Amino acid sequence: MSYKQTVIRNVDKINKALPEESVLKEIGLWITQGRTVALPTETVYGLGASAVCTEAVRAIFEAKNRPPDNPLIAHIAERAQLDTLGVTWTKNMEQLMDAFWPGPLTLIFPLTEETPLSPLVTAGLSTVAVRIPEHEVAREVLKYAGVPVAAPSANRSGSPSPTTAEHVYNDLHGKIDAVIDGGPCGYGVESTVVDCTAEICWILRPGGVTKEQIEQVLGPGTVRYSQSAPAEEAPAAPGMKYRHYSPATSLYLMKGPEEIWQRKLQDLQQDGKKVAVLAVEENKTAWTQADAFLSLGSRRAPEETAAKLYAVLRELDTMEVDAAFCEVFSKEGIGTALMNRLEKAASSEQ
Ligand code: AMP
Ligand code: MG
Repeated sequence: MSYKQTVIRNVDKINKALPEESVLKEIGLWITQGRTVALPTETVYGLGASAVCTEAVRAIFEAKNRPPDNPLIAHIAERAQLDTLGVTWTKNMEQLMDAFWPGPLTLIFPLTEETPLSPLVTAGLSTVAVRIPEHEVAREVLKYAGVPVAAPSANRSGSPSPTTAEHVYNDLHGKIDAVIDGGPCGYGVESTVVDCTAEICWILRPGGVTKEQIEQVLGPGTVRYSQSAPAEEAPAAPGMKYRHYSPATSLYLMKGPEEIWQRKLQDLQQDGKKVAVLAVEENKTAWTQADAFLSLGSRRAPEETAAKLYAVLRELDTMEVDAAFCEVFSKEGIGTALMNRLEKAASSEQ
């Protein structure tokens, strides 16, 4: 893969001053022309490229080193663009679009023969995942690009997703054409991926929109997590089989009584190992013996924990420690997405 001089463009999403509009227009055109551009969204930074251009989509997979059987989400600027994608949808999907678009909800759409999307976007499936992001910068770039934009998280495949432009640059500079710096992402976890093409509404990946919020729209008992259903019953997101979001440092989830983990900490330290603890602020005093403490925010604000999780996992890798213990969270609301990411980030041998 050839070296790319990665350009960084700063924008202030709050101040929609004209010079920034022209930056967004220029970057939008870069996408139309087939280049790869990382952009802020309300979930995490995405690596965008034209979803109708196979060469551009291939460049995404190459830059990230993403397995080719893991399909991408197509991002659009507005609902009317659905008519150009060659997709169909159900009444339930329409209700979810009304309620959550723009926002962190991705819907799976059946494709028709007429679709202009590159088959690389869908990894050859007969469906495509689509979302309209809420972030102003992302929406403006999508509008100027004028084409659907394939955009997975802008990180090296397998490592924690990027929630700042710096994270993107550290992972991908030299491999992509540009990064738009719009500050840190608000949600900090990826979108919820939902397959609502049949009777049951399946959550393929928990994320920014919660099961509880979806049930408020479609009714109680209508929504299920595909990962907790038997494989032959539930559809799946191909990407969820991969280990993801992982720091290089071995990460262990502190399931079970705290005493066990205090003892493990002592044992490791006696063997000359250094251990970091990732926990909520309220538990800081319990871990004064740890070699490092990384705060996951307050127990009372799980949204805050979600927003800082990936940055904390990245910070962990800058520390001189041999292992890390991480607090577990209750699987309610955004806690489901949080635990899903932590379980994938954690070392398997625990
Ligand atoms: P990412 O963009 O890296 O956050 O990942 C997108 C997620 O959506 C992955 O887990 C994909 O496997 C999943 N996905 C994308 N397209 C489809 C599809 N057509 N059907 C099911 N899952 C999909
Ligand atoms: Mg990703």
